[in-house]
Amino acid sequence: MFIDFSQYEVKAPKIKAYKCQACGAIYYPAPKVCSQCHARRDPVTGKGWETFDLEGLCTLLTWTRAWNLPEGYTKKYLLFGIVQFENGLRASGRLEVENPVIGMKLNATVIESDERPGKPVKVFVFK
Ligand SMILES: [Zn+2]
Repeated sequence: MFIDFSQYEVKAPKIKAYKCQACGAIYYPAPKVCSQCHARRDPVTGKGWETFDLEGLCTLLTWTRAWNLPEGYTKKYLLFGIVQFENGLRASGRLEVENPVIGMKLNATVIESDERPGKPVKVFVFK
């Protein structure tokens, strides 16, 4: 008997970075105007700009521990970090390591976070 597993496939959430097609400059989050060549990015059509998944190897630039989380969180605190990806882009997100050290290598993944009230949002998780 053949079981089709494809229907159970869960697509991993991704966060997009942006690339100006005119000059190749990359951005996250998306700018309105390319700071290198001043090409405009139409926020609706995104014409002239490519997107790509921002993920993978990154370096921890700084981090902080947030206490007193809003009601609904089951943890005492959360760690947040700012990282730099190998392509130079920077992003902030949740840090899931025991003892963060600035400069340490991390791997960035994306989760759909529904811990907060409202719609789930995509957040970076650095491990
Ligand atoms: Zn440009």
